[in-house]
Amino acid sequence: MTICNACRYCEGHCAVFPAMEKHLTFDASTIEYLANLCHQCGACFQHCQYAEPHEFAVNVPDTFAAVRTSSYVNHIWPGMARPLVRHGRTFSFVSALLATTVFSIGVYLEHGGQVFSRSHDSFYEVIPHGVMAGTFSVLGVAVLLVWTMSLVRFWRILGLPSAFFIDRQTYVRALKSMLTLENLGGGHGKGCYQHGERASQIKRWFHHLTMYGFLLCFAATSLGTVYHYVLQFPAPYDWLTGPKLLGTLGGVSLLFGSAGLYWSRRQTTPEIDTEDYGMGVSLIVLLFATSLSGLALPLLKDSSWLGVALCLHLGIVVAMFTCFAWGKFMHGMYRAVALIKSEHDELP
Ligand code: SF4
Ligand code: SF4
Repeated sequence: MTICNACRYCEGHCAVFPAMEKHLTFDASTIEYLANLCHQCGACFQHCQYAEPHEFAVNVPDTFAAVRTSSYVNHIWPGMARPLVRHGRTFSFVSALLATTVFSIGVYLEHGGQVFSRSHDSFYEVIPHGVMAGTFSVLGVAVLLVWTMSLVRFWRILGLPSAFFIDRQTYVRALKSMLTLENLGGGHGKGCYQHGERASQIKRWFHHLTMYGFLLCFAATSLGTVYHYVLQFPAPYDWLTGPKLLGTLGGVSLLFGSAGLYWSRRQTTPEIDTEDYGMGVSLIVLLFATSLSGLALPLLKDSSWLGVALCLHLGIVVAMFTCFAWGKFMHGMYRAVALIKSEHDELP
C-alpha cells in the first residue's frame, strides 16, 4: 500500500485508492477495510507498472483477496467456528449430506419406505409445513445472530460511529454502489479485468443475475409465508401466482448467474485467482444446486422421485444457510460495511 500511495496511478479505478489516499500509514484494520472495499476487478493489476517481473511484484487484488479471507476468519462469531471457515468445501458438503440424511430418515420413520416410491399432490404430504417452517426459522434466526455479532465486530474495528449516527445519504450511496456493483467497472465503466487485458462486464452481469435471482427467491418465500399465514392459502400454487412466478424467475436467474460465476472463476487470470479455502466455489455450487433442485421439484410433483428430491433440496438449503453464516456469503456483509465507511469518510 505504501508503494500505491506514492504511485497513485490507479486512483480513478475504484473506491479503494481514494480511501487509501486518506492514510499515511496502514495498520491492520485499515488494510482490512481497504481489502473488503476491493471488488477484485483486476484493473489495478493489469495496469500496474510495478507488477511482476518488476522486483516490487505489486499485486493488489491478490494481496487484498488473502486479507479478505483472513478477515472472514478473524471476525467470525463464535470464534470456535473458525475451522468451519477454513474447511469451506468439506463443511458445505458434509452439511448437505448430513441434513439430507436427517430429512430422509425423518420422512422414512414418519411414512415408511413407500413415501419414496409414490407420487404426492403436495410437498407437505412428504414433510409437513410446520417441520419445514420450524427448521428454517430456527436456522434463519441463528444466521441473523451470527451476522449481527460478526458485523458488530467488523464495524467497530473500522472505527465507524454508531449506525444511528450515520446520515441517510451515506446509506443511500453505499446501497447504490452495492446494487450496481459500480466498483466492478474498472474505473471507465467498461468492466473488470478478471480474464486478462480486455475489460469485460461479464462477471458483473453474472453477479447481478445471482444476486437479484437470490433476492427474487427470498421474495417468493416471503410472499409464500404471507399467502400461508395471512391469506390462509397454502401451497401448492399455480404457475400464475406471485410466489411461483417470483420463485421461478429467481431460480432461473440464480441458476444461470451461479453457473456463469463458476465459469468466470475458472477463466480468471491465475495471478489474481487467490485461494480462499474453497469458500467461493462452495457458495457458487450451493446456489446452483439450490436453484436446480428447487426448479426441479414442481416438475417432479407427479413422480415417485418427489420424496427423494425434496429431502435433497432441503438438505442443500440447510448447507446454504450454514454457508450464509460461516462461508463466502459473508463477503457481501463485510463489503457493505466497507462501502458505508467509504461513503461516510467521503461526505463532509
Ligand atoms: S497498483 Fe501499481 S500502478 Fe496502481 S497505484 Fe499501485 S503501484 Fe501504482
Ligand atoms: S482489483 Fe479493482 S477493485 Fe480491487 S483495488 Fe484493484 S482496481 Fe480496485
